[in-house]
Amino acid sequence: MSERINIMQYDVPGLENLMPELGQKPYRGRQLAEWLYLRGAQSFEEMASLPRSLRQVLDERFVLFQPRTLEKLLDPDGTVRYVLELEGGVVTETVALRSRDRLTVCFSSQAGCALGCIFCATGGLGLTRSLLAGEMLAQLTVVANDSADMRISNVVAMGQGEPFANYDSTLAALRMMNDAALFGVGARRITVSSAGLLEGIRRFTDEPEQFTLAISLHSCEQRVRNYLMPGLRTQPLDKLHAALLSYMQKTSRRPSLEFALIEGVNDSPESLASLLAFCEVPAPGFHVNLLSLNAVADPLQGPALHRAPAPTLARFERELSRKGVSVTRRASRGAVIAAACGQLASRFAGSVSDA
Ligand code: SF4
Repeated sequence: MSERINIMQYDVPGLENLMPELGQKPYRGRQLAEWLYLRGAQSFEEMASLPRSLRQVLDERFVLFQPRTLEKLLDPDGTVRYVLELEGGVVTETVALRSRDRLTVCFSSQAGCALGCIFCATGGLGLTRSLLAGEMLAQLTVVANDSADMRISNVVAMGQGEPFANYDSTLAALRMMNDAALFGVGARRITVSSAGLLEGIRRFTDEPEQFTLAISLHSCEQRVRNYLMPGLRTQPLDKLHAALLSYMQKTSRRPSLEFALIEGVNDSPESLASLLAFCEVPAPGFHVNLLSLNAVADPLQGPALHRAPAPTLARFERELSRKGVSVTRRASRGAVIAAACGQLASRFAGSVSDA
């Protein structure tokens, strides 16, 4: 008997294309997607609107494994961190950030990450595997089922992993998040946060949807960036700058640049000067998010890094503003439960089966 495959590898068009092969009309594919992601069905058997014969053949050929919540942590600021088990005992994480009028889901595109940024707990895990499109979408299902009072308004691929290292599945997931019959999150409220993989930026530039782009920059000095983000050594800053210019020219959208200020590493006057020079671009220009470095839970992950003092952040903000660069100091959310940027590496990290 052939091995069953995970149904979550299919996006909606993929499910529609699959149906004739199973002797069904294509529209059954969308019904199946709604059972999987809107209702979070745990089995094919419970999909009552699908013909019994289809449910049987689905059960014979496919695995349905909805994410299982291993741990749910609540931060006093309202942030919720979900540690999730996926098929094969693989573990990843999702964060829900609430404000008065917004529910933002920060989802993972991979379990772990291969890029090894030294300020990031996820980078210390290495890569377990890339997630399927449906496994990304199902992270929204987990949050939606746990948030009856609010609809998901914003989504960002800023959890574990590098989304452009899992490009096709990530884009398929974003389209389903945007799909009006599924989560209906507006394209401009869906952001991909990349460490700066050039090929991914080039492909993203040509996508028809108005998804938005954020880049984890953290230094405009090549030597410093190589130190902080060793997995990006083959993706130099001049080429990153050129790719972002092309993105801006073609899309007229403004990418965000994430910059976590680290004391004695990227907070010098030279660092500021190189950031200002990087931001000298024609309209629409960049938006710079200045972040305070978040503590990484496991001190064995790398060298001790400390957040730059508040006056340094204020100086960077002031100088960027003075040069006409759009800039905000982003408040860190979820730090108490280690759900903030760079902190996602749970005690279940990797796989629950090797615990
Ligand atoms: S910062 Fe992003 S790209 Fe770098 S190791 Fe962490 S998850 Fe990977």
